[in-house]
Amino acid sequence: MLEHKFVVFMPKEYEQNVLYVSMEYKTVTHLCCCGCGKKVVTPIAPHSWKITYDGNGITLYPSIGNWDFNCRSHYWIRDSQVLWANDWDESKVQATKIQHNDAKLKYSDKILHKQEDKITSKKGIFQKILSYFK
Ligand SMILES: [Zn+2]
Repeated sequence: MLEHKFVVFMPKEYEQNVLYVSMEYKTVTHLCCCGCGKKVVTPIAPHSWKITYDGNGITLYPSIGNWDFNCRSHYWIRDSQVLWANDWDESKVQATKIQHNDAKLKYSDKILHKQEDKITSKKGIFQKILSYFK
């Protein structure tokens, strides 16, 4: 069972089995649940992790795969419980990373296009005003 602490800034010293939740910085951090002492950072964003807090326990979605650590631990945090998942082979890790990056790219593409739309519509208004004065 994990504890959770709502913080603004992440602490200098981490305690094992504590989830540090910063809504201000949309980030959850904790020490790897295997006990290896590595810090795990899970940003809360549309194509990163989602957090659910029901007033009692914290759920993070999707699972946490620490593929870059030596321990390669993979687990879910559901209702503040650590549920251990299988180790993935490298091909699955890579496939998921590619998928993940794809989704991220599409998402930032969308934002970019939205901004472009805004700029062009502003330009349109500006040109209209200009032609009005001609
Ligand atoms: Zn670990």
